[in-house]
Amino acid sequence: MSTSQELFERARQHIPGGVNSPVRAFKAVGGTPVFIERSEGAYVFDTEGKRYIDYVLSWGPMLMGHNHPRVREAVVQQAEKGLSFGAPTELEIQLADRICEIMPGMDLVRMVNSGTEATMSAIRLARGYTGRDTIVKFEGCYHGHSDSLLVKAGSGALTLGVPSSPGVPAALADHTMTLTYNDSDGLRQAFAEHGARIACVIVEPVAGNMNCIPPAPGFLEALREVCDASGAVLILDEVMTGFRFGLQGAQGYYGVEADLTTLGKVIGGGMPVGAFGGKREIMEQIAPLGPVYQAGTLSGNPIAMAAGLATLDIISAEDFYPPLFTRTRALCDGLQAAADKAGIPFTTNTAGTMFGGFFTAADSISNYAQVMACDTERFNRFFHLMLAAGVYLAPASYEAGFTSSAHSDADIEATIDAAAAAFAAL
Ligand code: PMP
Repeated sequence: MSTSQELFERARQHIPGGVNSPVRAFKAVGGTPVFIERSEGAYVFDTEGKRYIDYVLSWGPMLMGHNHPRVREAVVQQAEKGLSFGAPTELEIQLADRICEIMPGMDLVRMVNSGTEATMSAIRLARGYTGRDTIVKFEGCYHGHSDSLLVKAGSGALTLGVPSSPGVPAALADHTMTLTYNDSDGLRQAFAEHGARIACVIVEPVAGNMNCIPPAPGFLEALREVCDASGAVLILDEVMTGFRFGLQGAQGYYGVEADLTTLGKVIGGGMPVGAFGGKREIMEQIAPLGPVYQAGTLSGNPIAMAAGLATLDIISAEDFYPPLFTRTRALCDGLQAAADKAGIPFTTNTAGTMFGGFFTAADSISNYAQVMACDTERFNRFFHLMLAAGVYLAPASYEAGFTSSAHSDADIEATIDAAAAAFAAL
C-alpha cells in the first residue's frame, strides 16, 4: 500500500506535474493530491483506505454516484462483445435517438470523446455555417482547451481577446470576443457594434468553471434575442449542466433553446464521451453530409455508448431529480447556517445539482470579477480541514460542486457537521 505522498513523488517522474489534468495537482490549494483507489456511490476511497464524501464526482459525470451497478453491468456486457469497431453500431442509434427525444431543439447529434472536442467542433460548425469568424464567449466560462476558446478578455469590455495560454496564436485570439457573464447590456452593445461578423455565442447556461454562477434573470433570453437578430448561432455548452438540471439540461430548466448544444460528462456515465448537436439545418453542414470536417477514431465507442444508455435509463425515472434538488439546496442551507453561526462571511449559490460556496461579505456573486475578489486563502484552509474530515471538495475555489443521487441525507448532514467544525476552526 503506497501513500498519496509516495505516489505523487513517483507520478512526477514521468507525468507532467504528476497528473493528467492540471487542477488535480492541488496547485491552487497546496498539499498533496489524494490518490484514489476505488469509488462507490457517494464515496471515493484513497490508497490508504480512507473514505471521502465526494462532491467532485469526477468533475460532474457521476450523477448517480460512483460505480452504479447498472452502468457497470452495461459496460462489462458490452466489453465482452468487443472494445471498439470503428464502424457503425446500433448502440449509437439508440443513444442518438434518446438524446434527440430528450433535448430541446436537437435534430441531429454527433458523438465525440470529450467536452473539448464537442465545443471545438460546434464552433467550427458555427463558423462554417455562417461564413463568419468572430466568436463570443464570457469571462470565467470554460469550454475546454481548444485554441479559440483559451482566450481571456482584453482590456475593457468589447475588446477582442488575448490568449490565456502560450501556444495560442494572437491572430486566432483576435477572433474571440470575451464579454462579462450576466451583463445583458454589454452583450447588446457588442452585438450592436459587431453583430454582422459574429458566427456564434458560446456560453455555460449555468457557469460552473468560476465556482457556481446561475444566469441572471433575462441573461439567457438576451442571448437568444441577439443571436436571432444577428444570425449568429447560439451554442449552449451543456457539457457540465447537461442532465444536471433535469433531463432537458439547463435549457429545459430555464426555458431557452440553443441552436447547437454541446454535451459531455454525464452523457458518458464516466466513460470518455462528448456530443454536439442541434438544428438540422446547421448540423447538415457537418461531414459527410456537408463540407465542415470533423471525425474521430474512437467516436461513438460501443462501451461508452452502453454506459451512456444505461445512465439515461436510470435518470429517466420519474422521481430521480426532485429529491436530488432538495438535498442540494439543504446542503447549501446547512453550509450557510454553519458559516453564519461561526461568524464567517460566506455565501452560496445553487441551481439544480450544482452548488458553490464563496468566502465573501458580498450578498450575491454573479460574475467572474466578484468570484476573483473572494478570500481564496480562507477557502484553501477550509478545503484542507474538510479533506481531513473526509469530505472531498474540488481543490480550487473557482470550481462548482456536484451532488449525486447516491448522496444520502446522512451524507449531507455529515458534510454540514464537518463544515461547522471547519468554519469554527478558521
Ligand atoms: N465545457 C464545459 C462547460 C466544461 O465544464 C468542460 C470541462 N470541465 C469542458 C467543456 C471540456 O470538457 P473536457 O474536459 O471533457 O474536454
